[in-house]
Amino acid sequence: MRNPLQSLPTRIVFFVFAATLLTSLTVTGVSVNFIDSFLRTKINQKFPEILETTIERLDFWYEQRLREVEVFAKSDVLQDNLRALSSGLGSPRHKRARAEVEQYMAYVLDGFSQYASLFVLSNEAEVLLLVGEPLDLPPEIRRDLRATVASRVGDVLALSDGPGQIASAPMKDASNQSLGSLHALIRVSALGEILPHDNAGPSGHISLIGEDGRYLASSEQRPAGETFAGPLHTLGEPVVLEEYTSDSEEWVIGGARVFPRFGWNVVVEQSYGEAFAPVVSAIGRVLLINLAIVLLAGIAAFRIAVPIVRPIDALSDAARRISDGERGVSIPESQSSDEVGVLTRAFSSMTMRLTNNAAELELSHDAVAEANERLRLQNEKLQQVNEVLEQLSITDGLTKLHNHRYFQEALLRESKRADRTSLPLSLILIDIDHFKCWNDRLGHAAGDEILRMLADVMNTTVRETDELARYGGEEFALIAPDTDLEGAMQLAEKVRSEVAATSFFSGPPAERECVTVSIGVAAYQGDRRDLFGRADRALYRAKAGGRDCVVSEANATEQ
Ligand code: GH3
Ligand code: MG
Ligand code: MG
Repeated sequence: MRNPLQSLPTRIVFFVFAATLLTSLTVTGVSVNFIDSFLRTKINQKFPEILETTIERLDFWYEQRLREVEVFAKSDVLQDNLRALSSGLGSPRHKRARAEVEQYMAYVLDGFSQYASLFVLSNEAEVLLLVGEPLDLPPEIRRDLRATVASRVGDVLALSDGPGQIASAPMKDASNQSLGSLHALIRVSALGEILPHDNAGPSGHISLIGEDGRYLASSEQRPAGETFAGPLHTLGEPVVLEEYTSDSEEWVIGGARVFPRFGWNVVVEQSYGEAFAPVVSAIGRVLLINLAIVLLAGIAAFRIAVPIVRPIDALSDAARRISDGERGVSIPESQSSDEVGVLTRAFSSMTMRLTNNAAELELSHDAVAEANERLRLQNEKLQQVNEVLEQLSITDGLTKLHNHRYFQEALLRESKRADRTSLPLSLILIDIDHFKCWNDRLGHAAGDEILRMLADVMNTTVRETDELARYGGEEFALIAPDTDLEGAMQLAEKVRSEVAATSFFSGPPAERECVTVSIGVAAYQGDRRDLFGRADRALYRAKAGGRDCVVSEANATEQ
């Protein structure tokens, strides 16, 4: 399968996608980091403020409780009835006093839900009276309570393993004599009402954690006594933010600070998701914008790439077809003034020139082929003419036998062959007897006719392999290859007798007027000139011997 990245538009789009995505992700990372650290700074400022405010509220709340108990302690009902209450136990006055005080205290409890019970301790730390929830106070606590009241004007005592905090106020008569002390057991759960804090957000809540690490109260409904899951801080330690899984299995960011009055921890928690919601929402928004930018950039890149790549594709396709030998390849015209347009037009004109050149080349090729054909025909004719000329150059015009020139060549050729093959070779020279007389008597034209007829007679007598030539005026030569002197003598004799037997004249010429020839014969002995000399001498001997006869070189040499 073709790799999609081999396509130029895909590569461009991929590159733009990657570049835009990288840039976007970097910007997103930086922005998110910035928002995150900004939010952390904000939370670092906000949480300590919340804790500070909460501690102030708590203090104020406990101060209010203290003031209330002081006010209750100074009430006329208590002042008036307390002395009677502590004396004359069981007397009607005691009973009445007790009933009045109990009624007053029940009334107070009704109006102040933050108190679980009210009780009065005598100077000896005995419980004189208790209204509200029953309370079993051990003597040491009672003594502590009395000591608290004695040392200070009033305070709230936190009972570490007791039922809660007890607000105490001294009771004195007009002469500043101690009549005992009034104490109120505070419901810690009532604190939940003042803990909610708007600044911690909808998911935020504030809790009070006791020294033992258990919940005392919380703006969230949480069963008291449950152990707090997050980190706690010791007195003097600055508020440090931490992230952890809360008791409700939620990932939270929390901060804690010690409430100095009781050594408790005031804890503020906010769900991480809410605290860092702007980060999450920023990530979402930025990612969405990124996606849009990446898509737009990709589409833009594609739209830019396609008009560039399409003509290049067409050009490369055309170039491939031209290189494959295709002619008349055309590419779509481009009006664009960019580089691709210039390239397309240049390529187009180059293609056109190439096509024209190819056409011209084909035309000239045809012309050359035509000229070549003409040349070939002319050559053929010339060859024929040459052959004719060649033939003419070696042919005797009158007798159509080979001429003297041919004879010389043939003798050279045959002598060389005889040298090579050691086969015999003979030469026969023929001369018409008294030819001059024939000419003189009958005329030159009749002499020519005799020459022609004689040539025909001899030509039909000799073998095809024998070379017959007109050597001179009325002299003929016959080269006989593969023929020894004896054979040549027979051949010469055959020629002589055929000539002698031929009737050259029509009409009534006298019998003695037949045309005869004299013949000299010689056999080749390794020297071509010597051969001719010997044949010629034999011929001379034949003439001398009376004509119309054949004489061999042997005979010629003897004489
Ligand atoms: P011999 O028997 O001794 O050979 O006597 P001859 O007359 O044949 O010899 P000679 O050499 O005296 O004469 C040759 C003659 O042949 C002379 C010449 O006019 C004639 N002749 C040579 N060539 C031609 C030719 O082409 N045509 C004709 N008609 N005559 C020719
Ligand atoms: Mg002669
Ligand atoms: Mg002659």
